[in-house]
Amino acid sequence: MIRVEIDEGSGFCFGVVNAISQAERELSIDSELYCLGDIVHNSREVARLEAKGLRTVNHERIAGMSNVRLLLRAHGEPPVTYRIAALNGIRIIDATCPVVLRLQKKIRKSYLEMDHSRCRIVIFGKTGHAEVNGLVGQTEGNAIVIERASDLSKLDFSKGICLFSQTTMSVDDFGEIVALIKANIGEGVEFRYYDTICRQVANRIPNIRRFAAMHDVILFVAGEKSSNGKVLLGECRKANPNTHLISSADEIDIKWLQDAKTAGICGATSTPKWLMEEVAEKIRTKS
Ligand code: SF4
Repeated sequence: MIRVEIDEGSGFCFGVVNAISQAERELSIDSELYCLGDIVHNSREVARLEAKGLRTVNHERIAGMSNVRLLLRAHGEPPVTYRIAALNGIRIIDATCPVVLRLQKKIRKSYLEMDHSRCRIVIFGKTGHAEVNGLVGQTEGNAIVIERASDLSKLDFSKGICLFSQTTMSVDDFGEIVALIKANIGEGVEFRYYDTICRQVANRIPNIRRFAAMHDVILFVAGEKSSNGKVLLGECRKANPNTHLISSADEIDIKWLQDAKTAGICGATSTPKWLMEEVAEKIRTKS
């Protein structure tokens, strides 16, 4: 029988734990609770909370809502969301992760203090990601978002740059971006950069690499939209090419387990422990 191990370092980070416990607390008071966007990038966990009454809505919907309770998830929101809520009498349950909140404030402060004719805010992150939208909102939409080294062509190197990172980007990739900007920035032009990557993800990398290398096959459990899931999955694949991404136990292909003596299960900061346990149980019954 195949030996199955769940990575102890995988599972919800404290930002997600906090958002989910706030949702559960509010749902125990009254079953009508709205959440702006998926509370977590994991459809099974969303479905579990929706069964308790949580209703997921998008930004268009809240513009037409009034007198309801609206939970803001760990990713945070731009200032406009708070303004709409205030205008519509929507009561906000703010579950923005404290790490994201600190980053929003830091960007806002830099934006308000800088000379805009000489310097720009640049954010290293995924265009359109909810957290990045919240960060760009601190600059009235004026920040430039870069996702990869090739996006540096968007920057004017004769103007100052103040660089921040989305919390879930890779530390190595951020280092590469910093090095490239340093190499290209005009002489005497200001370049300030802040490594604002959350260590809840970065600190998991050495552990997940070790874990992936210890097993014959790795099942990485995460939703496709999870940004930190992509980073951690990439690290697993580097350490063990026999790594497969699944979002639930139903997606396990028995062929992956043939010839394997050990299987490791790990996941993102948005992957519930109970889901990894379900995957482990399925492997044990299939092998
Ligand atoms: S990964 Fe870090 S910043 Fe993001 S929700 Fe978790 S603790 Fe907060």
